[in-house]
Amino acid sequence: EALQIALDGPAGAGKSTIAKSLAKQLGYVYIDTGAIYRAVTYRALNEGINLEDGPALSKMIENMSIRLVPSDQGQRVFDGDEEVTDVIRSSEVTNNVSFVARQPEVRDALMDLQRDLAKHGGVVMDGRDIGTHVLPNADLKVFMTASVEERARRRHEENVSKGIPSDYEKLKEEIALRDKRDSEREVAPLRQAEDAHYLDTTTLSIDGVVLAIERLIEE
Ligand code: C5P
Repeated sequence: EALQIALDGPAGAGKSTIAKSLAKQLGYVYIDTGAIYRAVTYRALNEGINLEDGPALSKMIENMSIRLVPSDQGQRVFDGDEEVTDVIRSSEVTNNVSFVARQPEVRDALMDLQRDLAKHGGVVMDGRDIGTHVLPNADLKVFMTASVEERARRRHEENVSKGIPSDYEKLKEEIALRDKRDSEREVAPLRQAEDAHYLDTTTLSIDGVVLAIERLIEE
């Protein structure tokens, strides 16, 4: 049968890498909900909209047509006809997305889109509030984390391997700050759902994490 799998956790815990690999093995669709908040932030920055003005942002969202399209590499992201898959990964978007994501009007406006995406067959959905809010009845919930040092180290190595300039200490600070903002917001803060499995990946390999989750599915 086709399951709904909710994968939540702090920034840089490897959720998207794991979700992608797991979805591929199971023949499921991978949905990265962070990309939706990023696409909204990207557009708001371009339009010069105040990132803390919830009503203005929700109006902007009404005029957006955000589409997540599964692809071999994972997921492509479109706003109308414009592909924003790569531009939403900029550090400007990364460091501003939490302000947008903490506006209740924004979260409300994006809820139906996320639930619709999960409707069709097996999905692995990654985010911050999937197990607690978006898919409270998911078949399996995993809360994935790792020490902030390890998360910064992984991101740093990824940057270095791609030839992107990278500063480990700065990455660590940015990750910690984003987690703080995501955990301390009033609406749908970053939390482990009561019925979620806790998975600390600090000392695990990618394959090790995928295997651990596959075992949870079989339980
Ligand atoms: O997963 P990613 O790092 O791309 O998420 C970007 C940001 O989007 C998070 O830091 C958080 O502020 C927001 N987000 C959220 N709820 C989700 C997914 C992402 O608030 N379900």
